[in-house]
Amino acid sequence: MSIPSAAADPISALREGDAGQTDAALEILSRVFGYDSFRGDQAAIIEQVAGGGDAVVLMPTGGGKSLCYQIPALLREGTGIVISPLIALMSDQVAALEAVGIRAAFLNSTLDLHEARAVEQQLLAGELDLLYMAPERLVLPRTQDLLRRARLALFAIDEAHCVSQWGHDFRPDYMGLSVLADAFPEVPRIALTATATEATHRELTERLRLQGAKHFVSSFDRPNIQYRIVPKASPREQLLRLITSEHEGDSGIVYCLSRKSVEQTAEALVARGIPALPYHAGLDAAVRQDHQERFLRAEGLIIVATIAFGMGIDKPDVRFVAHLDLPKSIEGYYQETGRAGRDGQPSTAWMAYGLGDVVNQRRFIDAGEGDEQFKRNARSHLDAMLALCETVSCRRAQLLRYFGQDMGEESCGNCDTCLSPPETWDATVASQKLLSALIRLERERDQRFGSGQVIDVLLGRENERSAQSRHQELSVWGIGTELTEKQWRTTIRQLLARGIIEAEGEYGVLVPGAHAGPVLRGEATVELAVDRAPARSTRSRSARSGGGARAAEGLGIAERDRFEALREWRTSVAKEKQIPPYMVFSDATLVGIVEARPTTVAQLGEVSGVGAKKLAEYGEDVLAVLPAASTD
Ligand code: ADP
Ligand code: ZN
Repeated sequence: MSIPSAAADPISALREGDAGQTDAALEILSRVFGYDSFRGDQAAIIEQVAGGGDAVVLMPTGGGKSLCYQIPALLREGTGIVISPLIALMSDQVAALEAVGIRAAFLNSTLDLHEARAVEQQLLAGELDLLYMAPERLVLPRTQDLLRRARLALFAIDEAHCVSQWGHDFRPDYMGLSVLADAFPEVPRIALTATATEATHRELTERLRLQGAKHFVSSFDRPNIQYRIVPKASPREQLLRLITSEHEGDSGIVYCLSRKSVEQTAEALVARGIPALPYHAGLDAAVRQDHQERFLRAEGLIIVATIAFGMGIDKPDVRFVAHLDLPKSIEGYYQETGRAGRDGQPSTAWMAYGLGDVVNQRRFIDAGEGDEQFKRNARSHLDAMLALCETVSCRRAQLLRYFGQDMGEESCGNCDTCLSPPETWDATVASQKLLSALIRLERERDQRFGSGQVIDVLLGRENERSAQSRHQELSVWGIGTELTEKQWRTTIRQLLARGIIEAEGEYGVLVPGAHAGPVLRGEATVELAVDRAPARSTRSRSARSGGGARAAEGLGIAERDRFEALREWRTSVAKEKQIPPYMVFSDATLVGIVEARPTTVAQLGEVSGVGAKKLAEYGEDVLAVLPAASTD
């Protein structure tokens, strides 16, 4: 039985060894991180950067971006500088690296002067493999001066889309990073992002002056995430059903648009006995930080948040992301849903969306600040989002197409439209009736209305306003009784998403849209989806096994006991060390241990996710926790 030594400095021994670079990279992957092979482009990216070249890396969340700069930083002499906007997460990122034996630190405003000086000394003494800092700090003359005196392995620019104004996370401080090209021409730079429209890609390459870089664009598919978009009825009840029927005991993120609905939703969950915490910009910074930390550390806690939450959150076992309101863009939606299932285990991206969302969002844009160009951008982002919501074909194929990628197949088998293709109906005549009603009201009464009053006209339902304006005398009065009010609302929502009608101005009044002409003239037919029943779960059996609290579902009874015993042990270690449980071992690694049934430390070391340092630290304890072998 041999225990790989975690002592001394195995990393620098590797660096100085005479194995080829690729071998050295693999050796680090296995010994330090406990994994046996690279994923996707990782090996090629590492080779490029370790060899001193620049790289632009577009990889989805959970794809494994961190190793792409961590391993080159270990392979090269000097310290890798990691630039990230996420100050609140730096201490966790550093803790995770220390847990595997990497010498890491951060420099940010949470350190006092004394602590910061100590880190600077470590940097200058060559005692750090990786150093994290925010962009605003990096561009300070004092920092530049410090870096010039240090030996640098590379610059890693994380969340690089933040430099793009077209994108949705623009941070002015990122603009300053263009100086690195001139200030440190000999230090390789690697920019990484999970946001990948062509426009963002082009912009970040230019602004960060990475024209000479090699580009690595991965597939953006996240096959383990099941995408589902349902019509909004009573969103909190729908959310509760999702959680109790499919995600009991799982960690999850719920996104809402407003602070108020964040608060109310969190309260509603807690009232039903589901642990949940709110997170939004209106909360005290200390409270926010506390809630974020509790979310990272706890198992089975739900965070209800505005979009202020989540960038850089790399909790691997988030089992579902739910949207109770429509996101403003596909970029945002994909990034938010991408926080589910970073560990590769089955996860759910679920959204409830309705007519009100469309009208509100349009109104926000129209009434909001920003010049015409800004509003045009915002509208086209929203239109793409709506098209995704209303598609009757594969959601994943549509998402990937948006990012310029072709799935190769028509159907993914793991989104709601693939799992139960929506019924469609010919809504041409209904659309014509609706458009006629809008036109008559405008021409004959000089009136424009929101959906409620228009539906009353179509159904011939009298109210005060219709009596006053003599709507009963219009030829369109009561011509739409073949549909119910609910069906009309669904129809209006879908026609809005297709630009056949539009919602205008402060009150969201309906008017014929850019694509109305051909429909009115009978040159185009309109095929719409029948809204599905909101409660139905479409999770397939195969997608159910594995993962998070449900990881144990795929295991036998005895195995499940061992899994639970390991989880308990992990919780106690995490508490004692004050780190999140997944930093001890991920769920996937625990399942791997249960399945491998190791009886020796060496066997345990073979399990994916068990590196040398953790093996030395926890090996004997883990073996002691596993009940004495085969009862099953
Ligand atoms: P990203 O930053 O792209 O979202 P991470 O770097 O956080 O992704 O990696 C996601 C998860 O995948 C982490 O738990 C990481 O340890 C794991 N991972 C990365 N590369 C590999 C690999 N080659 N083999 C196994 N697991 C990996
Ligand atoms: Zn699909």
